[in-house]
Amino acid sequence: MSSNLDSIPKDLLTHILARVATSSLNSYFNVKLSCKMLKEVAECSNVYKCISLDEFPMDALHDMNGDVRSFINRCVECENLDALYMLGMIEYFSCNNLAKALVCLNKSASLGHVGAYYIITIILLLSGKDFKQRGVTLLSAMKSSVEYREKVKYYREKLIKFLRSAKTRNPKVLNGRPTCCTNDRHRFLETNALASVGNTDNYVFCDACTCDRELIYIFEGI
Ligand SMILES: [Zn+2]
Repeated sequence: MSSNLDSIPKDLLTHILARVATSSLNSYFNVKLSCKMLKEVAECSNVYKCISLDEFPMDALHDMNGDVRSFINRCVECENLDALYMLGMIEYFSCNNLAKALVCLNKSASLGHVGAYYIITIILLLSGKDFKQRGVTLLSAMKSSVEYREKVKYYREKLIKFLRSAKTRNPKVLNGRPTCCTNDRHRFLETNALASVGNTDNYVFCDACTCDRELIYIFEGI
């Protein structure tokens, strides 16, 4: 195959492999195994930056062996947004290192990764006081959009899978679920609403109640 590929400009091959990497992690590895030349192109930083880690199992993040860890580290070095988001979660929830977590998450979120942005809002909610209020504003804004509400649900499920398999060392999580809404009537009505409508995002009384419901889903899921 290599002799046919020799005639294709390397920039074009890199572009093609980046497209493959964006669409599927499994396809990326299959192409990489197909020949020496494609393996070489697949190793370049522009391709690593694009690899989609959607198929990477969240419960495997805690027990990465040498090869897998090297692969994720290389993705991080190449500013892969999925890898930065994953590393941010490991740093915050497993290592209790807020500063390192925020470096990764802020970088990923600032370049458009919705999952990293979602985790930042959860960290803010867990951080109390003024941080919590900031988290309420950001997360409720996300959940007020139909488009982002679906993404919140997607990344919530990923977070729950991660936390279920994690040895969480962060006291903010170990201390139990914080509450955001301070309105007693809201909290009473919300308890009844949750019991009657079940697991849905459609019914809330205020922004803080919306975030309380998000935290209930997470803490009851882990
Ligand atoms: Zn409320």
